[in-house]
Amino acid sequence: MSVDSVFRTRSLGVASVGLPDQYADGKAAKVWQLYIGDTRSRTEEYKSWVVSLLKQHGVQRILDVACGTGVDSIMLVEEGFKMTSVDASDKMLKYALKERWERRKERAFDQWVIEEANWLTLTEDVQKPGNGFDAVICLGNSFAHLPDFKGVCVPVIFQSDLTQDITTSVLWVDNKPHMITLDYTVQVPEGPQSSPELSKFRLSYYPHRIDNFKEILTGAFHGKCEHSVYGDFKTYTPGQSQAPCYFIHVVKKAA
Ligand code: SAH
Repeated sequence: MSVDSVFRTRSLGVASVGLPDQYADGKAAKVWQLYIGDTRSRTEEYKSWVVSLLKQHGVQRILDVACGTGVDSIMLVEEGFKMTSVDASDKMLKYALKERWERRKERAFDQWVIEEANWLTLTEDVQKPGNGFDAVICLGNSFAHLPDFKGVCVPVIFQSDLTQDITTSVLWVDNKPHMITLDYTVQVPEGPQSSPELSKFRLSYYPHRIDNFKEILTGAFHGKCEHSVYGDFKTYTPGQSQAPCYFIHVVKKAA
């Protein structure tokens, strides 16, 4: 039974296969840039961490599998990585495409590959370069859109200066939190032609437990990998007293 038949997500769009595209009505996409806060100040938080991790491993070609409006991909294109950026939602991709177009005179942006692709059909949707990608990234809480029917990890709340309200509801099935739905209300500031408006959108996430999530990730490499978890970009030790706001999983394929 699909969860959406139990608990309706606001957006009725359906991506080409499988999972519903919760971004299809364009409501989240429209305010995403505002919602995640100033792009530069958002990426400043982790840019040096991500870039040095990638460089440390000699990464050049990167596949961003949930690029959304392109916030992280743009940062990495600017840093000289060869980016292929994909997302299942054309409404989100539209903003990445616009940025590429506007900066097409910069060689790095002219070479930036952007495609529509779904995780469920990734190998068919994405053309792999000759020697494959050196790294695959999935940032900004996107993985929590991946259904997980075993497994809790509360989603990332993006830093934003906008007045907002987030109502959280948890759908419990068999005594376990099964789906977390966030109803966002974002106050979009007055523009040149418009008065302030309230934008509402709903996104549902599937809670993953950290160990369970580790299993999913390492399983994809048949265990032939090194997995590490960072909490707020610091090494995370299970049971540590300080609970991080968000986790970052890093999986390195065995040589
Ligand atoms: N990484 C971006 C986008 C985060 S929003 C950022 O941090 O701002 C989450 C993104 O995941 C959305 O753009 C959504 O379309 C994408 N997504 C969700 N499920 C997906 C799937 N099955 N395949 C590909 N992309 C998916």
